[in-house]
Amino acid sequence: MIAIYPGSFDPVTCGHLDIIERATGVFDHVIVAVARNLEKQPLFTVEERMELLRQACGHLKNVSVDCFDGLTVDYAREKGAKVLIRSLRAVSDFEYELQMALMNKRLNPDVETLFMMTSAEYSFLSSSLVKELAYLGTSVNGLVPKCVEEKLLAKLRMSRAGG
Ligand code: ADP
Repeated sequence: MIAIYPGSFDPVTCGHLDIIERATGVFDHVIVAVARNLEKQPLFTVEERMELLRQACGHLKNVSVDCFDGLTVDYAREKGAKVLIRSLRAVSDFEYELQMALMNKRLNPDVETLFMMTSAEYSFLSSSLVKELAYLGTSVNGLVPKCVEEKLLAKLRMSRAGG
């Protein structure tokens, strides 16, 4: 069975990677799909986010990385996937995730959203917090894959040099 793990992944963190790794043990194939239209001002382009995901997931055989425009359920139909994976860190995620899951169910009743709980060690972790730490010059070692850490530093150096 194919599952889609959709998100912004701006950038992928160890929390996302943990979900991807666990999902590969449950599903035959996991498509990690970067949504093109979620965030107005992402730090990384869709292509950069996909490249980082590819590097971070290089050790996983049944994972592919892709991107999509428009509705996630339409993308799922196109890929022949009946499952969307999302995950929950805290109660604060619940309201938004429930709303999205119910809307997606209404849009396409054949697609199920399945939730995986975060691992305890990553429950506090988010892409935006990682970006904030990096911006403030604090190490993000252990919070993101090595390739993301390097790219984050390079990106911030570039934006500081460019103004
Ligand atoms: P969104 O898709 O809402 O823009 P993300 O791309 O950050 O957000 O996340 C995609 C999915 O991964 C969401 O279901 C989110 O709750 C989940 N997620 C984000 N950070 C973590 C984490 N540290 N641990 C587990 N799941 C996470």
